Amino acid sequence: MSMDIEFEKNDFEENRYSRLELIPWWNQELLHNSTVMVVGAGAIGNELIKNLALLGVGKIVIVDMDKIEQTNLTRSILYRMKDVGKYKSEAAAQSAMEINPDVRAICLNSNIVTDIGLGVFRQMDVVLGGLDNREARLAINQSCYKVNKPWIDGAIEVLNGFARVFVPPGPCYECTMTETDWRLINKRKSCALLTHDQMLEGKTPTTPTSSSVIAGIQVQEMLKLLHNDRNLPTLAGKGYVFNGLTHDSFVVEYQQKEDCMSHDLYEDIREMPWSARTVSFGDIIEEASRELGGSVVIELDRDIATTATCVCGHKKDIFNTVNRLRGKDIVCEKCGKSMQFEAIHTVTADSDFLGRKLFDVGLPLYHIIAVRKGMKYIYYELSADKDEVLGGLFE
Ligand SMILES: [Zn+2]
Ligand SMILES: [Zn+2]
Repeated sequence: MSMDIEFEKNDFEENRYSRLELIPWWNQELLHNSTVMVVGAGAIGNELIKNLALLGVGKIVIVDMDKIEQTNLTRSILYRMKDVGKYKSEAAAQSAMEINPDVRAICLNSNIVTDIGLGVFRQMDVVLGGLDNREARLAINQSCYKVNKPWIDGAIEVLNGFARVFVPPGPCYECTMTETDWRLINKRKSCALLTHDQMLEGKTPTTPTSSSVIAGIQVQEMLKLLHNDRNLPTLAGKGYVFNGLTHDSFVVEYQQKEDCMSHDLYEDIREMPWSARTVSFGDIIEEASRELGGSVVIELDRDIATTATCVCGHKKDIFNTVNRLRGKDIVCEKCGKSMQFEAIHTVTADSDFLGRKLFDVGLPLYHIIAVRKGMKYIYYELSADKDEVLGGLFE
């Protein structure tokens, strides 16, 4: 019946999206006006980005720091032989815009754990994950919760996979983590200091078939979240589990953990004409003291290593976020041993590095900085960085 209706339509009335718009709840304009971030441009990421481009999602931000290798070509619809050696994020953004010139895709050639400021997350409608490690998932989870954005995780192994939907203030990724997950994440962190580059390589066996199944579910969930005024059922707080050997699938429901550390919400965000490159800790303390009155504390969302000390007595300044430290950064120049470092995550008016710029100690551009007096918090967004980070989306 519906086929007949389609065939009777005049060709000149149709556009690229006409068949999608036959779906009663579909809103193509809404999709065109949506901004979605895809983290990871590997097997799942390729399928996610392909789907977003086909559907005409207007603004796509692609985050990945790896380069394309020949082995990626069996699972990556967006890459060709000629792309081997290029950055995944760049090639993926290019392909997305070739698939559909209506979309604007930009690449952030960055590490999701260390380099993407909260201001970026705040601009997104939904975040999609195509990742192979828990550390990155946890970083996305914490960032999304702080700025109240839903994110949809995907994971595959051989023929199996799952897709999970996390919508604040419901159960989050950290709520689902088991002791084994924590053990693996801590092991990975300690290894990261020694052999970060080796650890970064995802070597999980995957197929283009399981990635397309799981990414399909993720994007379908995204569509429902974006059309949130249509009251469609979603997987919020739940996970879809797919067994590729039997083609059985089922849905699991997650419970919120009372003591979960990821449920931080940044409520009162001020857009400040500041850049991480030029604003100092002292500037922020000064502004916050004026606003809140009296002595204030900057509460950083990550540790900053300040100084390192060696058993031989040698000392040196580090001033970098701990999550950016590599083994070589804490090797003693005098004796070659690994040094112990001190780290802080708060800054007050009597700190001895008030003059340092945020970017110079490893904080990302377009970040949001929490400051408190007693239990009262305010959050300053470094909004002057928006153009440098996301400007390409609005060209
Ligand atoms: Zn949680
Ligand atoms: Zn030494």
